Amino acid sequence: MTACYIRPPLVLKLTEPASIAFPSDRVTELAYPHSLRDLRERLSSDEACRDFLFALRWPGGFRCARCGHRKAWLLANKLYECSNCGQQTSVTAGTVFQNTRTPLSVWFRAIWWMMGQKFGATAAGLQRATGLKNYETAWNWLHKLRGLMAPPEWDRLKGLIELGSGEVRIRTLQAGSGRVFRATIVVAAQSDNGGISEIRLRRVAELNEDFLTSFIRRTIKRGAVVVTEQSFPVGHLGRFGYIHERVPRDKNQPLEGELPRVRTVLTELERWLNQAREHEPNSHPLSYLEEFVFRYNSKSKSRGQAFVDLVRRAVTAEPAAPDSNAAAARSESTA
Ligand SMILES: [Zn+2]
Repeated sequence: MTACYIRPPLVLKLTEPASIAFPSDRVTELAYPHSLRDLRERLSSDEACRDFLFALRWPGGFRCARCGHRKAWLLANKLYECSNCGQQTSVTAGTVFQNTRTPLSVWFRAIWWMMGQKFGATAAGLQRATGLKNYETAWNWLHKLRGLMAPPEWDRLKGLIELGSGEVRIRTLQAGSGRVFRATIVVAAQSDNGGISEIRLRRVAELNEDFLTSFIRRTIKRGAVVVTEQSFPVGHLGRFGYIHERVPRDKNQPLEGELPRVRTVLTELERWLNQAREHEPNSHPLSYLEEFVFRYNSKSKSRGQAFVDLVRRAVTAEPAAPDSNAAAARSESTA
């Protein structure tokens, strides 16, 4: 393959991360789009969209994925070349935007539209909102964007967590209406001043200790207090760094009263999934599960904040700060 770039004078040397347009603090503080018009005005050109992705991908300035070096050359073909090891990358490498032929501004419009769909996004709706010619393309985009909605593993719940499970029942609208799809869902609900700040959900075929241990370790930070019902089949969580409390069974209380946050989430989930199904009856009844989680966890955020969150997830596979679970494990092992 021939070289696809030319060395100076057609390259711009990025020596000062701060000199790069769109520092991350401006994205978080000021750049949440307020409306579709605002989005169109600010993120219409390819250059503006790439600057936006740059600020979200490398909030502290460029960092080479191979060697960690902070300086890069911006090449004429929009690739960044690490000035230390020569590794080339782009703001879209490894993301849903990689190699897309559609302008990034259309992707951003799709995400903006998706954030506004209270009861779940559909492919037909996304096609209308973006003007994509092909329904299959809209369907593919929808599934890629939904894939981003699953909480990243480094982002775990903390503090006081209610953990429980229950069955959700979703009406299926195909032939023989009245049929009901049932699934058991495990819920982890993070307590926040009596309410719920964040949740994680997982469908489970069989509720057992192995599954629950794995779920807890993947979704909850060490040091958290995990509250379950007396009979919930979890083992000794102390060995993994959790404080486990079992809610005593109060014979005067209905079972639902023991873990109110878990019950609340299950009720809302069942209602929401049934509403979402009415918009896209041919989808799998649980294809909206992570979308529900994302929307639930974003409920106190503006549409613009949720938009930035999802775009950030698209370009960052790693946390900005070291994972506290890993850090805690390291400090324990060296203590
Ligand atoms: Zn490098």
